[in-house]
Amino acid sequence: MTPAGPPDLRRLLKTHFGYDEFRGQQERVIANALMGRHGVVIMPTGGGKSLCYQLPALALPGLTLVVSPLIALMKDQVDGLRANGIAAEFVNSSLDAAEVDRVQRDALAGRVKILYAAPERVSIPGFQRFLERLRLSLIAIDEAHCISEWGHDFRPDYRNLAELRRRFPATPVMALTATATDRVRSDIVEQLALSDAAEFIADFDRPNLTYDVRSKQNAFNTLLNLLDEQPGAPAIVYCFSRADTEELAARLTDRGHPAAAYHAGLEPESRRDTQERFIDGVVPIVVATIAFGMGIDKPDVRLVVHHTIPKSIEAYYQETGRAGRDGQPSRCVLLFSEGDRHKHEYFIRETSDAAARATAERQLGGIMEYSRLHTCRRRFLLAHFGQTMGDDACGNCDVCLAQSESVDVTVVAQKLLSAAIRTGERFGAAHLCNVLLGRNMGRIRELGHDQLSVFGIVTDYDGNTLRAIAAQLVEKGLLARSEGQYATLAVTPAGRRWLKERAELQVNMRIDEPGVNRPGRGGARAARDAAASGPVTQTPATPEQARREQGLFEELRTLRRRLADEQGWPAFVVFNDATLREMSATMPADEAAMLRLSGVGPAKVERYGAVFLDAIRQYAKRA
Ligand code: ADP
Ligand code: ZN
Repeated sequence: MTPAGPPDLRRLLKTHFGYDEFRGQQERVIANALMGRHGVVIMPTGGGKSLCYQLPALALPGLTLVVSPLIALMKDQVDGLRANGIAAEFVNSSLDAAEVDRVQRDALAGRVKILYAAPERVSIPGFQRFLERLRLSLIAIDEAHCISEWGHDFRPDYRNLAELRRRFPATPVMALTATATDRVRSDIVEQLALSDAAEFIADFDRPNLTYDVRSKQNAFNTLLNLLDEQPGAPAIVYCFSRADTEELAARLTDRGHPAAAYHAGLEPESRRDTQERFIDGVVPIVVATIAFGMGIDKPDVRLVVHHTIPKSIEAYYQETGRAGRDGQPSRCVLLFSEGDRHKHEYFIRETSDAAARATAERQLGGIMEYSRLHTCRRRFLLAHFGQTMGDDACGNCDVCLAQSESVDVTVVAQKLLSAAIRTGERFGAAHLCNVLLGRNMGRIRELGHDQLSVFGIVTDYDGNTLRAIAAQLVEKGLLARSEGQYATLAVTPAGRRWLKERAELQVNMRIDEPGVNRPGRGGARAARDAAASGPVTQTPATPEQARREQGLFEELRTLRRRLADEQGWPAFVVFNDATLREMSATMPADEAAMLRLSGVGPAKVERYGAVFLDAIRQYAKRA
């Protein structure tokens, strides 16, 4: 529920964006900017940040400058705004001097409402002088976490934005990001001197997403099973290397799951093509490096798989955030292997800057911890973003959904702690387990660990279970894991106390591998049902009606493709999939009915209304 706001904001929302309601805190953020106050906006990916500055830009007298590091997306964003009848432009390194000149002249003449620029542009003195000649109403800083070394994507250019603040001390600033921990948030406020900014922190919980971590053993089969759950549903698989994406895409296609590879090494044209075919639903699966997905507006992605751990929790949350933007049940699966951390460490070691290296290591440690978790994953993720969850389990992550039983591990836990102490607390879980299991390995003999009293004293557990117990002891605070290139386990003071007391110790052990088809809150079955009917609000009454709707949807999609091609735009700029679905279900007969659809405003009706109404009429006659 949105409180009733100034009526003209609602009107602008419908006129220029085609939406009837503000989402979450949008309206409060906008009102704050219109009062001339600074704002810090923290919303998850897909939360609707762009509207927070685009709408005030229309209501304010002068120009709104949007600083964004995503040069590749600026053109799409500007095209999208123009399709909505908004005077938007961008300046970045893809334009030549004459084009930049033209944009700047238009801006000076008051013909531009929203101007996108990259941070490096903003630090050029000539550009700052140009800005000084404008009437600058608002400065929006997108991806504001890039200003902080504590963030996951530090960009030195962002530090120059402080200079922008000094030059325009009276202009309100809106800093926006999807990924701000407390530390990053206070860094943004400090660097940009926004101490009097209002802060808007959205609810980060995405209840329709299921979080799931699986062992990477048999990764390909696991992947096939996941895809088989909802054949043809849109999915993104993130890989570590370019070669991985191509190989995996080919193997999946071979096995009847049409997939395209996407990475930064491909020609821009082919990348754009893949992106559009994915958005249009022609190719259901994209196997990508992280280069894929920034700013992608596809609401019905049902599955996001990480084939290798990402570099940080922030990155993971952002990438999984691309699933289920339409609110329908969707899955996020991480295929985990301890060894994959070395892939990241290789690159971390190459980093020359010591502070950046330390940050990267800490972040990798965070995602490792997430992967090994034996407690609710959602609780852990939300805590990372400073949000606490109630006492109840989330019921929608693999840990909460797993069957587990409480087992007495008193004796084996004592053995694990003793092994850590006897080996000098300088080794990781794998080594301790090998010693306890009495494995005859060269390294153990070299270290003389086969001579210790703890060598071979565990006979009732296998290696995997033993490691799972060690992980639980870390979570219980009896062991502490050092992060770094080689994680070692040390016994904590609490662990030493417990060893003395010899109190009984129970832990919850999973007695199943997380199953693919286990029903849960919004589990696989619900997702399958949702995928069959699409993100439409009304479910078709009969199979006949469903068939009709689908037929019309396909035709409208083809029409959209043609119109977009004529303009050289990506298809979603015309109408997005959700709007086309709604159009197919409700079959509007006139412009007024069309205007009632979500995502349709007057500018779009004027431009495309007649063609789409005609296509619907033709279809109604035939079907
Ligand atoms: P973010 O930048 O936070 O990742 P976007 O600004 O790209 O998110 O918005 C995500 C999606 O939500 C877009 O498709 C956008 O058009 C849509 N959206 C934003 N605000 C609203 C709203 N008030 N009502 C309906 N859809 C909205
Ligand atoms: Zn949970």
